[in-house]
Amino acid sequence: MRFETLAVRAGAEPDEETGALVPPLHLATTFEHAPDGARADGLLYQRRDNPTQRRLETALAALDGAERTLFFASGVAAGAAALHALPADSRLVVQRDLYSGLRMQLERYAARWKLRVEWSDLADPAQARAALREPAALVWAETPSNPLLRVVDIAALADLAHAAGARLLVDNTFATPALQQPLALGADLVLQSATKYLGGHSDVMGGVLSFARDDAWAESAFGAREFIGLNASPFAAWLVLRGLRSLPARMAWHCANARRVAEFLAAHPQVAAVHYPGLPNHPGQALAARQMRDAGGMLSFQVRGGAAAALAVAGRLELFVNATSLGGCESLVEHRASVEGPNTRTPPDLLRLSVGLEHADDLIADLEQALRSPA
Ligand SMILES: *Cc1c(COP(=O)(O)O)cnc(C)c1O
Repeated sequence: MRFETLAVRAGAEPDEETGALVPPLHLATTFEHAPDGARADGLLYQRRDNPTQRRLETALAALDGAERTLFFASGVAAGAAALHALPADSRLVVQRDLYSGLRMQLERYAARWKLRVEWSDLADPAQARAALREPAALVWAETPSNPLLRVVDIAALADLAHAAGARLLVDNTFATPALQQPLALGADLVLQSATKYLGGHSDVMGGVLSFARDDAWAESAFGAREFIGLNASPFAAWLVLRGLRSLPARMAWHCANARRVAEFLAAHPQVAAVHYPGLPNHPGQALAARQMRDAGGMLSFQVRGGAAAALAVAGRLELFVNATSLGGCESLVEHRASVEGPNTRTPPDLLRLSVGLEHADDLIADLEQALRSPA
């Protein structure tokens, strides 16, 4: 089955008991044991596992091409589970321009969790090679990256990681499996924030780990979810499962809109730079064309006149809502440097856009009026 068909049909078997086409939402926290103490269907307690979440995990495993998929309370919870599943004293090589929440998790807790982190610019093959001259346990990449939309060569990095004895984790939140398949390109683990495109409607939080192999590492992450309490509610799993059905259709529209917005901004005199891997002058364009089906719905741009000019443009936008997060139906704008705080490496004149599902002409008209008004 092709991806679009899988997205609609995976984990969508009608309910055996009632024939209902929509999956039942099981809220039970506990499950009856058999008289001999055995667990029916392996179910014991909601924190460990539950039927609604199992359906979602089956569907996500099919979409990611994974042997095993685990669902979590959030993207950062999924990240914490991946880290807790590593042996103590593991050496990690992590992409420098990482999603800020996960960067903070590593900065605050990696040492306490007995993990050694080396930050590296993994979009630069020479730096990736240098960082992987020494053995490592895990290489952590994000592509396209947040907020500069840099593109990392997944297949090449997988080879480098494996030669160093490391596994490769790819954060696929921006691309989603509709546009990019990291496991097929050689990665060992995919992390995704389901809060973004997978849920797709800005009303549910969740995180995903999809493992290429159902091995001891996957089992260890499953244990971390249960015993650290990184589990999601069954309703969150239910909402994400619903979101998957329209994922390919939404992604196609997000991509078409983002491309038009990027082209408009690239031609605008008030715009100093546009970061979108679908534009011909983007440094990762050729690579993105190879490893992605399309360039995605996220982009960022730099406004002439510095931070004050960028903030003024964000303030004048009417359709684009000034809010964090991404991947919903509504378009969002955000001044990332303000959100990321004093240690940010994001350019101060940069605005990030999550291009939504409105009409591209309306989005462009909104940007036009915001960029035209005097700063
Ligand atoms: C939002 C995000 C995360 C974290 O996900 P939450 O669901 O907010 O915890 C991780 N990676 C990327 C790229 C993100 O955009």
